[in-house]
Amino acid sequence: MREVERRGVVLDVCPQCGGVWLDKGELEKLLSQAREVERHYEEEREAYHRKEGKPYKKKKGFMDLFD
Ligand SMILES: [Zn+2]
Repeated sequence: MREVERRGVVLDVCPQCGGVWLDKGELEKLLSQAREVERHYEEEREAYHRKEGKPYKKKKGFMDLFD
């Protein structure tokens, strides 16, 4: 088993099949990071559209599935 660190989250990677295991709590960390990135992009897009004077329709994000 190979330990790989991604953005402060430790993943155990199987060198044979490429399977990934997460310790308890690491999945939560990954998900909250993904939410933060998504929220950031939403805000950027919204701000851009507002500046351009175009209507902006909020898209339902993938991560909403986990709420
Ligand atoms: Zn494996």
